[in-house]
Amino acid sequence: MRIALIAHDKKKQEMIEIAKKYKGTLAKHTLYATGTTGTLVMNETGLDINRMKSGPLGGDQQIGSMIACNELDLVIFLRDPLTAQPHEPDVSALLRLCDVTNTPLATNIASAEIMLVALSRNEITKQK
Ligand code: PGA
Repeated sequence: MRIALIAHDKKKQEMIEIAKKYKGTLAKHTLYATGTTGTLVMNETGLDINRMKSGPLGGDQQIGSMIACNELDLVIFLRDPLTAQPHEPDVSALLRLCDVTNTPLATNIASAEIMLVALSRNEITKQK
C-alpha cells in the first residue's frame, strides 16, 4: 500500500506516537508525507518516508496530485480543527480529492488507529 502521512502542527506529536506504535506495520508499506511531518516521523521512528514540500509551501497539493493520479491507497491527515491554516484551500482540495477518488482517509487519531489496526491485520484491500 502507498500511504500518506500529514499532520498539522498541533497534531504532529500524535502522528509521531501512532507511527511509533505501528512502526512494524508501516515499515511494510511505501510511505509519503508532507515535509515537516515526514522529517519528524523519520527522525523519531527511523521509517523510510518519501517527503514532499512542507504543507503550506505546496506539499498538500503534491499529495493531492498523487491522490488524483491514483498513486496513493490510504491517507492519514491529522487535522487541527481549532486553528486557522494559511493553506486551508489546499487542505480542502486534498480532502475533496480523497472523496472524488474513493481513497480511504483518516482525519483524526481515532480513525487513524482503526485504519492501522485493519492494515496490520491485512484487512484492507486496495480500493482501486
Ligand atoms: P508539514 O505540512 O508536514 O510540512 O507541516 C502539513 C500541513 O500543514 O499540511
